[in-house]
Amino acid sequence: MSESGPPAALLSMATERQYREQIVRYGHALHQRGFVAATDGNLSVRLDHNRILATPTCMSKGEMRCADLVIVDMEGRLLAGRRKVSSEIGMHLLIYRLRPEVKGIVHAHPPTATGFAAAGVALNQPLVCEVVIGLGSIPLAKYGTPGTPELTDALAPLVPQHDAILMSNHGVVTCGTDLSQAFMKMETVEHFARIALVTHQLGHQQPLGAADLEKLILVREKYLGGAQAAEREVTGSGNGAHRKKATGQRELTREPFRRRRVSQ
Ligand SMILES: [Zn+2]
Repeated sequence: MSESGPPAALLSMATERQYREQIVRYGHALHQRGFVAATDGNLSVRLDHNRILATPTCMSKGEMRCADLVIVDMEGRLLAGRRKVSSEIGMHLLIYRLRPEVKGIVHAHPPTATGFAAAGVALNQPLVCEVVIGLGSIPLAKYGTPGTPELTDALAPLVPQHDAILMSNHGVVTCGTDLSQAFMKMETVEHFARIALVTHQLGHQQPLGAADLEKLILVREKYLGGAQAAEREVTGSGNGAHRKKATGQRELTREPFRRRRVSQ
């Protein structure tokens, strides 16, 4: 409203350019870290209530430029850009619909975390305190064919409570209040997957106990200002034990965290 400030249209154009640069930068970072191969993965940013800026289909994230990105509406229809929309855009739109506070999403196939997803094993054991504070548990969604409602149907029940989800026989999706947050969560998932793998190699896991988890929930509430507080949910006993799900997936009996959503 200020007469001295830049017109709103100019301001939003500048912001869109910055978002394009961010997507390109984090796309290159995904490629450099080996979190994607060939044309895998996709990234997006919510520009406003009806416009999503996203990576296009069939494009290496290591070679992408700002002009390659596409803008779609909330139904996935192309609004701007000369490339084609990714078939995985539906996953992004689902998350933006269910989580109004989410502004950035990263989907990738980091090898260790994707290995867990291909083995049917969730990363939901409280093995590392920082991961419990930052992410809570990382659940495993049922398999769904990419680019179909099967995939979004599998993710939908988990999206409201989790910022990072393993997708069976596929990869990982993370979201955040901006793209940088979503990217760092992807890094955390892969880093934690490597740690969890070492515990499997050592043949022993020592998950945090209930009393320590309670303390971490308090730290998490303080750290996140209460807006994204965690709530512990213990669905079974016996640390490290597994049970067979009806779906055939293995899930750890201890599912320690469920986020309590607080409307903002
Ligand atoms: Zn994928």
